[in-house]
Amino acid sequence: MTLFQRSFTSAVTHQMLRMLGRVPLGASCRCILCNKKVQFFLPYQDGGRSVPPLLRELRTVGSDPDHFECPACGCHDRERHAFMYLSKLGLVAAWRGQAILHFAPESHLRSLIQSHQPAIYICADISPQEPSVVRMSIEAIPHDRNTFDFIIANHVLEHVDNYVLALQEIYRCLKPGGLALLQVPYSESLHTTFEDPGVETPLARLNAYGQEDHLRLFGRDVVDRLCSTGLVSCVRHHEDLLPDVDATVFGVNRRESLLLFQKPY
Ligand SMILES: [Zn+2]
Repeated sequence: MTLFQRSFTSAVTHQMLRMLGRVPLGASCRCILCNKKVQFFLPYQDGGRSVPPLLRELRTVGSDPDHFECPACGCHDRERHAFMYLSKLGLVAAWRGQAILHFAPESHLRSLIQSHQPAIYICADISPQEPSVVRMSIEAIPHDRNTFDFIIANHVLEHVDNYVLALQEIYRCLKPGGLALLQVPYSESLHTTFEDPGVETPLARLNAYGQEDHLRLFGRDVVDRLCSTGLVSCVRHHEDLLPDVDATVFGVNRRESLLLFQKPY
């Protein structure tokens, strides 16, 4: 089978799965973002089989590749989980009137934030795909210190050349007491974060870090690393914060903790 035939077959299969997943009759899952009942959540590529063996062995925590995309609205599990965590902490309601900076803005999370009427809401990306997103490097944020109440970088820091520089910028631009949502994939087995400039081809990065465009794999020291520029950990775990939320029903990864950090007052 040629690459084109394989891609075509995969696209058709995905479309059929999406249609089946949308059937509401007897559906036992529910998307928290579109509030629709769905039969199941769609996998990312081939689901868990797409995860390189090394990443599976290292017990990598990130998106749930088997329960990834909502067949009704297309949102991803990382958006659903972030929304559930932040809602539970009362931080979604707090968006009203806040100054928010959102890197690599996910479309569904973005709509939700806009609906809560923040005073300032800047969507930014190193390679924006639409005019409403500002071209901005997280390693050189063009804003004054103490500007933002909330900064979101949901699965961004594993892509950034110098994540320490990014963390310095996040710290600088947050107001005292401001919060940063800094979800990243990490290994529960690796003692220390792994990155090496010699891992430079897409295939090497896929096998070493889990994705062709990842530049590191955070380890069990992930929270210490993310606190390295002065942010304070407000990390919470699914079982602590969302004990009544059935991860299968809502299509989220219960192993994925909330990586939330605060700039001290
Ligand atoms: Zn949905």
